[in-house]
Amino acid sequence: MNPANRVVLVLIDGARADVLKNLLDSGDLPNLARHIVEPGGMAVGTTTFPSTTGVAYIPFLYGRYPGSLGIPGIRWLDRAESHGDFRAQWQAARSYCGVQAAWLDRDTGPARTIFDLVPSLAICTPITRGLGAGGNRIPTKRAILGALAHYAGTYLWLDRAVSRAWLAAADEPDWRFLFVVYPGPDGITHLKDPFHADVMQSYREIDGALGAFLERVAKRGEVPGILVAADHGATAMPVHRDIAIELEARGVRTLRHPMHVWRRDAGAAVMVSGNACAHVYFGPRLDRSEPLSLDALPAEHVQKLIELDAVRLAASRDNDGVIVMDRGGRARISESGSSVHIEPLEGDPLGLGTAPLTLDDRDMLAASRNTDLPDAPRQLLQLFRTERAGDLVLAARKDFDFRGPWELPEHRAGHGSLIAEHMYVPIFANRPLPRAPLRTVDLMATALEWLGVEHDEILDGVPFSAVEDASAPA
Ligand SMILES: [Zn+2]
Repeated sequence: MNPANRVVLVLIDGARADVLKNLLDSGDLPNLARHIVEPGGMAVGTTTFPSTTGVAYIPFLYGRYPGSLGIPGIRWLDRAESHGDFRAQWQAARSYCGVQAAWLDRDTGPARTIFDLVPSLAICTPITRGLGAGGNRIPTKRAILGALAHYAGTYLWLDRAVSRAWLAAADEPDWRFLFVVYPGPDGITHLKDPFHADVMQSYREIDGALGAFLERVAKRGEVPGILVAADHGATAMPVHRDIAIELEARGVRTLRHPMHVWRRDAGAAVMVSGNACAHVYFGPRLDRSEPLSLDALPAEHVQKLIELDAVRLAASRDNDGVIVMDRGGRARISESGSSVHIEPLEGDPLGLGTAPLTLDDRDMLAASRNTDLPDAPRQLLQLFRTERAGDLVLAARKDFDFRGPWELPEHRAGHGSLIAEHMYVPIFANRPLPRAPLRTVDLMATALEWLGVEHDEILDGVPFSAVEDASAPA
């Protein structure tokens, strides 16, 4: 494959693959169809867990899973700091949704982003680590228009600012990697529905911006490598089941955002992402940095949480791996080398059968892809790589989220869970795509390969060329 001089990654936040496919079929996205799908293709890939903005950007920009870098969610509890003074308690209740947003860049430790490896520009990005001076475009518009859009729903204004910055970048000679983020589809989806006419209109506008950008670079006689993808899907969430409120009702004082981060005598902490993922920490004020394994958790509370109508799957640690649980079943997931093992203990919580199963990582992805929890084995293993993950992690069932009455404005739709409609994402490329299943974590490795960049980074993903080899029949 010829190296590309430049690569553009367009991240359409919260774009559902099936919705984009329908719009393509009806001729609504002519630029995507002609300039991307025709020379390259479209795949339905899978994202990471929790399937939520910010956290799910990490695979694209670091080439790593969030759990590999110590980011278990958009909110999490820093156990080691949580017993400290007033200020320490606030800091320990991490939330990248508010004033702590910039901490996402520092909480990932020493890892390097693609911005560190390639001269880069980024437009409207929540992750800025590695960008050079002037490389972070429209940060002020992102903050101001983003906040306005959150409350007033004016996401098209923010998206149009992105489009203008994108077009302007076409004429700049100094970048080799360009990251373009469209927050609109996700933002409008939360307020309305993933299939709402306003969401469809936002996709059409993004397609128009793609056409304008490609026309501009074509004048320079250039066809950059283009990747278009999403960080998660979305579903309507008519039922809100707040895990913290459920615990409070059972007499467990529960630390939570936004008003109860200083909860006295807290017996538990609940940190919600997306809002269909929740991390539960027990004994959050005890001076302890290590997570608890399943046998040390209060069994009665755990059982009640698993039995909630809102919960599709719960997960916790034991000495030999990750234990997953649903109402009728239990299984252990573990890994050795590149193999993933599933040991069913009762029932079939993952939908992968009741017999023990050992498969290579990519084959487990292929096997789990068509269950209702695509790539769940790998995604739970990566999440529990970090001790910052909760003692118990909950993934919501379709139609439910774990949001409380505190959220303003109400989220009518959302994401964050392991269910297929949150995990499936579109992946478009203007170069040929492999036929094997893809993950969003594969895109950074692919971009580096297209650019011909030699590096010695440890990545969790592999380039498209290696996906094909890894999945070839023996
Ligand atoms: Zn969202």
